[in-house]
Amino acid sequence: MPEICKDVLIVGGGAAGLFLALLCERKHISYALIDHQAALGMKWRLAGGAMGNMTNRTVNAEHYVSHTPKQAKKLLQSLFKTWQPQNVLDLLQEYGMEYEEREFGQIFCTKPVKYFIEKIIADLSEKNCFCGEKILSCQYSEKLPEHGGQAETVYTIKTADHVFCGQKLVIATGSSSYPQAGATDFALRLAKKWGHDTVPFRSALVPLLLPEHSPLLGLEGISIPVRLKIFRDGREIADPCGVRSLLFTHTGISGPAVLVMSCFWQKGDTLHIDFLPEDDLLARMHDVQNGRKLVKNLILPLLPDRLALSLIPVDLQNRKVAELSKKDRQRLTASLQDFCFVPKDTDGLKKAEACLGGVGLAQINQNLESLVHKNLYFMGECLDITGLLGGYNIHFALACAFRIAHRL
Ligand SMILES: Cc1cc2nc3c(=O)[nH]c(=O)nc-3n(C[C@H](O)[C@H](O)[C@H](O)COP(=O)(O)OP(=O)(O)OC[C@H]3O[C@@H](n4cnc5c(N)ncnc54)[C@H](O)[C@@H]3O)c2cc1C
Repeated sequence: MPEICKDVLIVGGGAAGLFLALLCERKHISYALIDHQAALGMKWRLAGGAMGNMTNRTVNAEHYVSHTPKQAKKLLQSLFKTWQPQNVLDLLQEYGMEYEEREFGQIFCTKPVKYFIEKIIADLSEKNCFCGEKILSCQYSEKLPEHGGQAETVYTIKTADHVFCGQKLVIATGSSSYPQAGATDFALRLAKKWGHDTVPFRSALVPLLLPEHSPLLGLEGISIPVRLKIFRDGREIADPCGVRSLLFTHTGISGPAVLVMSCFWQKGDTLHIDFLPEDDLLARMHDVQNGRKLVKNLILPLLPDRLALSLIPVDLQNRKVAELSKKDRQRLTASLQDFCFVPKDTDGLKKAEACLGGVGLAQINQNLESLVHKNLYFMGECLDITGLLGGYNIHFALACAFRIAHRL
């Protein structure tokens, strides 16, 4: 079995692993990039509907969630001191990729992100990239240097075709989301086995499923701006961006508003939807000019017909606005501006753009090195840090790679 010895072994050639390999290449650091898929960067190629939402005009710790928020904030603040949105823009420019800013500061490529990824891959030496390598084992051992001194850790990875050894091991295998693009929980299993705290992966940035018999079923294709909230333990959790669009699907709700809230939603939580986030419906009902209108004729111009008729209580649809009691007005307002239900579940890992959970931050230092095993690093989505929608996950993956490259 051929043995390949390098200074750095990078496992996982996604956004984080590919960028780290590129930086190693530029710094003449000897490395091997090992991935179990036939092609590199498969999830990255799908990002942002294939156009790659690569970063955001504004990126800070508030755009991320973690089970250890204080540690996450400290780490993110440290990473973003040296890796800012402008660094991503410079990288795109260097590779001749044009970009555009869309709503909420999101920066997208103007042509498919796969062209950018292919150019990065073209800059890596073929002899350093190992695709389609099924990892059979990953081990570490202590080795005394020939001329004395402290023992050094040597990491060994066995695949069906090779034995890799290296002084440093970087795990960049992402999370379990989107397994159809090659995602696995490899990082979590390895970290746990080697004594790290871990939090199981759970779907995030994912559609939510409607309960059976929901009046919102059958509205697929409709997309509207909404404001979403969750209440838990007396605390309100709302989308930090306020109003965003919601899209009805065959089985549930999706769109940016829902994907963001899925990062906060826990099974059993009630979701509150304001379908008229910019409107004061009670004031409309009190307006004398609207008094003679039928309720449905007051609401139909404000919302898509099918949605309006699903939301307005049937017994109120053909009543005149002026005839509504205070209770009826409150009932109508609640069904349009505070529609509550408990989603059945998320749409699962196959539809999730990211995961909550991952390798815990308590045993990772600011250089992303393990405090349990020297020269072992974890980076990107396998860590217990998840970016909300808006280019934050790719930004984070690149920031991690940049930090590690400067410490190697
Ligand atoms: C459909 C979709 C759209 C998205 N859009 C955006 C977006 O527009 N903007 C944004 O910021 N984020 C987006 N994301 C999230 C973003 O793509 C990820 O957060 C990012 O790719 C994470 O980078 P990573 O390098 O940590 O992991 P990944 O890119 O997932 O890379 C992990 C690599 O490890 C390899 N691997 C896994 N297990 C093993 C194993 N056992 N052995 C060897 N190799 C292994 C995989 O093959 C893969 O190449 C999207 C995700 C999806 C699914």
